[in-house]
Amino acid sequence: MDLEPALIRQLAATDILRYGHFAFRTGRHSAALIDRDLLLADPATASHFAYNIAKNYFTDRVETVVTPSIWGAGLAQWIGYFLEPKAKVVDATPHDGEITIAEKLLPLIEGKRVLLADNLILSGQTMSRLLDLTKERGATVVGVATLWCAAGDQIGDMPVYAALNGHFPAWAPDDCPGCSTGLGDPEIVPY
Ligand SMILES: [Zn+2]
Repeated sequence: MDLEPALIRQLAATDILRYGHFAFRTGRHSAALIDRDLLLADPATASHFAYNIAKNYFTDRVETVVTPSIWGAGLAQWIGYFLEPKAKVVDATPHDGEITIAEKLLPLIEGKRVLLADNLILSGQTMSRLLDLTKERGATVVGVATLWCAAGDQIGDMPVYAALNGHFPAWAPDDCPGCSTGLGDPEIVPY
């Protein structure tokens, strides 16, 4: 369920998606970079991505979308809106290095079918903690979704659906076409 090439072209015409040769903190390289702040500022684009993600989980009876970041929350609102019936959204905020969920939001997770979503998954540590936390709270996790993932195709025991990875793989430096074709040193991404 890859993103339509037309959407990729439309994105590339904005500053939300930039082509180049990029190195992430995890050591992975990529030929594209998503600007998460600009994405959050653009509901039209965010909703296209969210629809693509929601489509991937249409038959999974998701009741709540849980996200660990403010950027993820922007996307999660749209994912919840496109699911049928519409899902609730829980923003699990990082606090002192731990992820916490507000007490009043716990009923939306306990015993519920949840989808974990963030705009980007980089090291995978945050998503892994969120997976543990939601399971401890008795949720049935149906999937982990993101726009782009640099942490492999699995978080814990869950497969990751990453909307853009089919178009823009997260390469190990040894396999990176940008490195091997002499594009020069990658631009360092600070996250
Ligand atoms: Zn490279």
